[in-house]
Amino acid sequence: MAPQPFTGAFTQQEPLDDAAIAAAVRVLKTGRLHRYNTVAGETSEVALLEAEFAAWQGVQYCLACASGGYAMHIALLAAGMMKDEPVLTNAFTLSPVPGAIVNAGGKPVLVECTRDLVIDLDDLERKATASGARFLLLSHMRGHIADMDRLCAIAAKAGILVIEDCAHTMGARWGGRKSGNFGLAACFSTQTYKHMNSGEGGLLTSDDPDFMARAIILSGSYMLYERHGAAPDARHFEQVRLETPNCSGRMDNLRAAILRPQLAGLEANIVRWNDRYHAIEAILRKSGLFHLPERPAAESPVGSSIQFLIEGISEPDARRFVNDAKALGVELKWFGDANPVAFTSNHHSWRFLDDQHLPQTDETLSGVFDMRIPLTFSLEDCAHIAEIIVHCGRLLALKGAA
Ligand SMILES: *Cc1c(COP(=O)(O)O)cnc(C)c1O
Repeated sequence: MAPQPFTGAFTQQEPLDDAAIAAAVRVLKTGRLHRYNTVAGETSEVALLEAEFAAWQGVQYCLACASGGYAMHIALLAAGMMKDEPVLTNAFTLSPVPGAIVNAGGKPVLVECTRDLVIDLDDLERKATASGARFLLLSHMRGHIADMDRLCAIAAKAGILVIEDCAHTMGARWGGRKSGNFGLAACFSTQTYKHMNSGEGGLLTSDDPDFMARAIILSGSYMLYERHGAAPDARHFEQVRLETPNCSGRMDNLRAAILRPQLAGLEANIVRWNDRYHAIEAILRKSGLFHLPERPAAESPVGSSIQFLIEGISEPDARRFVNDAKALGVELKWFGDANPVAFTSNHHSWRFLDDQHLPQTDETLSGVFDMRIPLTFSLEDCAHIAEIIVHCGRLLALKGAA
């Protein structure tokens, strides 16, 4: 018998809490929304957020900016990427990642994805040599973290600088170390569908003072870099301030004001996400119908979304599975779709790149289904959703047997 339909909304985040709303109103009442618009003795909300995020992440420097994609764009430039240089990145990621490389003037070289949805380290090793790339923009896509020990060894041996895209791993860890602290720099997004919500926004972190000085000037600091919350000493700016273009992409005080209380509640939300993830995962796993990406003991992810594979599924069956789930109120995304739908994307639809041959990624993605887990879902909702997915999986299996 079919389960009851689910009626919750997959794109509904939690409302902002009273502390965030009060902070926003305070900023609005001052009229000082621009990050450099302060009165004597005042530290701006953006500078406070930078200091708090750097402390939380466990790094020296943090720059708040306009979006996660923008943070990746200026990170590549601040790292010294030159026009038309190859930049290694994941074949399985979202379009803002190759977009940031192209925006910075680079050429994405896509690296294969494994059936556990991480970058294929054998292919990375091959392409690190073959491409001559000096940079890897590593996307921890959907929160799956590759073996960072081996990845860092490959990068070090090839002389490659790593910039981490932590849009889905804010607060996650590998071997106890925070995601984002493995390379030269890390980029985070505070767009509505990530782990903190300011509508739009990004955070760039690093322990390298010269890199961060260039990034701050790039972000459009109008020589007001001393008003930053987690910036290197003024001496690191002496040269770069005159040599680096202003590519305005700052964060404003309103966004920072609503992010600061969210940062204070982030650890608690990570526990809530993981509870929901495990509630769904347990039911999917028990059914025996799906491959759930392996999560090594060293990985402590944030379960803000879930992915599972039906390996070898045909295109008509994948569409039928998504439609059956949708009829029961469950919104699944299929990454094998040749046509990008909303937040799915497939490298074949990035026609602004040179065509790349990625047979392993194509085969993997043809069976990948993806679902968001907003915190507005209760644990009961999660169990209900998982039962619907299992039901739809059984319908396919029955059809196969018939
Ligand atoms: C959302 C996202 C980004 C970029 O974030 P924006 O703030 O939307 O620019 C980067 N990488 C991945 C994997 C994302 O999902």
